[in-house]
Amino acid sequence: MRRLILPALALFTVFFLATSFAFSYTVKAGDTLYSIARNFHTTVSELERINNLQSTSVKIGQVLSIPTVTSSTPAPSITPGTREASFQGQTSAKVIHRLRAIPGDPVTVRVIGAKGGAPIVTWGPQRPDGTFEELVMTPDGNDWVGVGRELLGEPAKTVNLETNIGVEAITSSLKLLRDPQGIQNVFVSQQVLSTANDTNRERELAVLNPAYKQSELTARAFFKPWVQPINSAHISPFGQARRYERGGDVKYHYGEDYAGKIGDPIRAANDGTVVIAGFYAIRGGLTGIDHGAGIVSLYFHQSRINVSIGQKVVRGEIIGLVGATGFVTGPHLHFEMRVRGEATDPKQWIGKIFP
Ligand SMILES: [Zn+2]
Repeated sequence: MRRLILPALALFTVFFLATSFAFSYTVKAGDTLYSIARNFHTTVSELERINNLQSTSVKIGQVLSIPTVTSSTPAPSITPGTREASFQGQTSAKVIHRLRAIPGDPVTVRVIGAKGGAPIVTWGPQRPDGTFEELVMTPDGNDWVGVGRELLGEPAKTVNLETNIGVEAITSSLKLLRDPQGIQNVFVSQQVLSTANDTNRERELAVLNPAYKQSELTARAFFKPWVQPINSAHISPFGQARRYERGGDVKYHYGEDYAGKIGDPIRAANDGTVVIAGFYAIRGGLTGIDHGAGIVSLYFHQSRINVSIGQKVVRGEIIGLVGATGFVTGPHLHFEMRVRGEATDPKQWIGKIFP
């Protein structure tokens, strides 16, 4: 029995108006030149240079030019290391995964040498109902692979795993570190906030949650490295904690935002089946692709959707066009990689089959 995970927080998105070559950003309460540089994957000295700044202090309302980061220069990783370790059982079986992660990092768990059927891999502590969270294990050559993750906002802790292969149990663990990104204040108008009300939120989760659940039963459909769905700059990073109103709750940015103009093509990040295709108040023009093994990719705010539910798509196929629909103030693509319903860092999937 797996836990049905209901993402409790609304999905909010970015408020920057992007152009093809550079961005303007209006300084908000709580911003520093350092936090702006970090959020846009640039440096303080680069911001000083292109804006002709005489000092590093910025004022609320000040408009800054932000240099673009093209997709050929990957954003610096905030992940605290990807060193892997191998955990050996009494037989020749072993379990390999990384030793450190932050909330939202996808953690690939590879089981080598398991004989006779899928291993059962539990992730984290026993739950109050006596069950454990289990990874969805999928064959990969002679190995079995599953992806674990911890939710955005989780505190630092040790995550214990147990891999059961027949009668053998291999225990292992990884350290979950504190998310290094601080909380950003992005205060928006009540009119914008009212879009993300409970009714709209529940209406959209009623479509998303069954898709996540179904993906755990769908056979793995992806066998090639993941591709970025649009060839443009990152404009807002995954996982950023934000407050959208003074004193309001902290919300997390569950996806990665890419620059785009209305009408730019959006491509399927990998092979799969379209399970969501429609227009919604918060997420706007939304496509969801079930890739199997518990993996769903999501594409928000489209002006046009070119695919329909049930349609099989291949990696790189155009599935829709960039728009500014839903909870946005400007055109861009918000892209998510969900693992058993929870958001993981899309950047860590691109260019690999398993992150
Ligand atoms: Zn976004």
